[in-house]
Amino acid sequence: MRDKLYDLIGVGVGPFNLGLAALLDPVKEIDSLFFEQKEEFDWHPGMLIEGTRLQVPFMADLVTMADPTNPYSYLNYLKHQNRLYNFYFLQRLEMPRNEYNHYCQWAASKLESCRFGTKVVSVVPIGDPVQRYEVSVEHGESGEIETYFAKNIILGVGTVPSLPSPLKGMSEEDVFHSSTFLQHTERCKKAKSITVIGSGQSSAEIFRELLKERPDYGYSLNWVTRSQGFFPMEETRLSLEHFSPEYIDYFYDLPQDQKDEIFSGQQLLYKGISPHTITDIYNLLYEQSVGGKEMDVMLMPLTEINGLKQKEDESGYELECRQWQKNKSFLLDSEVVVAGTGYRPLIPDCLNDLKELIKWDDKGRYHVTKDYQLTLSRESTSTIFVHSGMQHTHGVGSTNLGLAVNRNKIIINELAGKDIYPVLEGNVFQQFEYRE
Ligand SMILES: Cc1cc2nc3c(=O)[nH]c(=O)nc-3n(C[C@H](O)[C@H](O)[C@H](O)COP(=O)(O)OP(=O)(O)OC[C@H]3O[C@@H](n4cnc5c(N)ncnc54)[C@H](O)[C@@H]3O)c2cc1C
Repeated sequence: MRDKLYDLIGVGVGPFNLGLAALLDPVKEIDSLFFEQKEEFDWHPGMLIEGTRLQVPFMADLVTMADPTNPYSYLNYLKHQNRLYNFYFLQRLEMPRNEYNHYCQWAASKLESCRFGTKVVSVVPIGDPVQRYEVSVEHGESGEIETYFAKNIILGVGTVPSLPSPLKGMSEEDVFHSSTFLQHTERCKKAKSITVIGSGQSSAEIFRELLKERPDYGYSLNWVTRSQGFFPMEETRLSLEHFSPEYIDYFYDLPQDQKDEIFSGQQLLYKGISPHTITDIYNLLYEQSVGGKEMDVMLMPLTEINGLKQKEDESGYELECRQWQKNKSFLLDSEVVVAGTGYRPLIPDCLNDLKELIKWDDKGRYHVTKDYQLTLSRESTSTIFVHSGMQHTHGVGSTNLGLAVNRNKIIINELAGKDIYPVLEGNVFQQFEYRE
C-alpha cells in the first residue's frame, strides 16, 4: 500500500503520456507517475514496416513544440546516437517510423516517472466531493497488485483496432487487422492470394509492402475499398493549418451536431494516403507490368465487403463484395485478408468504477472540457484529464502528435496553476472566423 498522494497518475504510456512525462520531468513541483502494461515502450509494433515514415515533421517529437531545449527532444536523441549528420544529409523532415519508436524507447528508459509491465486495473474515486483517486496496478510478471493514490488522473490509453463484423470470428492467422501485419508476414509469403481492405495510410503501406514482395512469392493481390478512390491525404500548407491550436479552439466552440457533421466531412485531412506512398505504389505497378507482364494484381475502389465465408475445402475465403455505384455483387477468393479498417477509442475496464462519475452523451461518448478534463457528474476537487476519444469535442487534430505537445502544455499549466509552458496564439495565417 502506497499512502503517498501523487499530483498525477497516468494510465498508459504511448507517445501522448510519454511526452507529458518528458515535459513534467523538469517541473519538480508536480509529482507524477505513469503506468504502462507493456514490458517496454512499443509504438504500433505491427506497423513498423521498413520504409514507413512519421506523417508529421520531426518537430512533432515529445517536447520540441513546447520547449526545444528539453533534453528529450529528437535532435538531442540524434546527438546521443551520433546521427545528427546522417539526419542532416537525409534532407527530410519526417523520421522513419521505426526510429520514432526507438527515440521514444530512449526517452522512456530515462524517465523515472514511467513504469513498464504495470497494468492499471482500477481507478476508484474517493470522497464526496471527490478528492483523490485510488489506482490499483497489476505487475505483469508477479501478478502482484499495488495501490497508489493520486489527486489527478490522465488517461493515455489510446485506441483499439476496429474489425468490421463480417470479418470477425475467422482464423486470426488468415483474417487479421492491419495493426498485426508484421506478425503475419510469414503467413502472407505462403499464401496463394491476399486481399487488403481499406484505403487509409495503413492499407496503402501494407499493399505497397505486399506488392514489393509479390514477385518473390507469387501470390495474387487485391486491394479493395468502399471509398470512391485511393485518394491522397490533404497535405497542402493551408490545409495543414487545421492541425493547429487555433482550429481546435474554433472547432471546440461549435454546437455538437455541427461538429459531428464537419468531422465526418474531413476524412481526407487524416484518413487519406500520403502522396509519396501512392507514388511508390504506382512506380511498382508500372515496373512490374513492363512488357505487358501479367501481374495478377487488382485494385478495386467503390467496393464494399458484406460478408466472408470460409470455403468448404478450407482452402481460403470467399468475400461477398458489392460495387455499390452499379449495385453489382460478386465473390472474391482470398486465402489471407488484411483489414485496414481503422481504430476506435478505448474505454478500458479499469474505468468501470468511474463510469457513474463520468458524464456521457447520448452516443456513449464522454464530454471533455476545452482544457482536456472529463466533465464529471458530481462535485470534485480532483480532475481526470484525457488524451484520446476526443475527436467529437476537439476535432481532427486531437490524435495528432504535434498537437499532443500543445495539449500537454495546457494540462501542465492547469496542474501547476500557473503558466509553466506559455500557450502562444497567432500560430496560423488564416482565421477560422471573423474577429473584429
Ligand atoms: C500505425 C499508426 C501510425 C500513426 N502515425 C501517426 C503519425 O505519423 N503522426 C501522427 O500525428 N499521428 C499518428 N498516428 C496517430 C496517433 O499519434 C497514435 O495513435 C498514437 O500512438 C496515439 O498515442 P497514445 O499515447 O494516445 O496511444 P497509444 O500509442 O495507443 O498508447 C496507449 C498505451 O496505453 C496502454 N494501456 C492501455 N490500457 C492500459 C492500462 N489499463 N494500464 C496500463 N497501460 C495501458 C497501451 O498498452 C498502450 O501502450 C498513428 C496511428 C497509427 C495507428
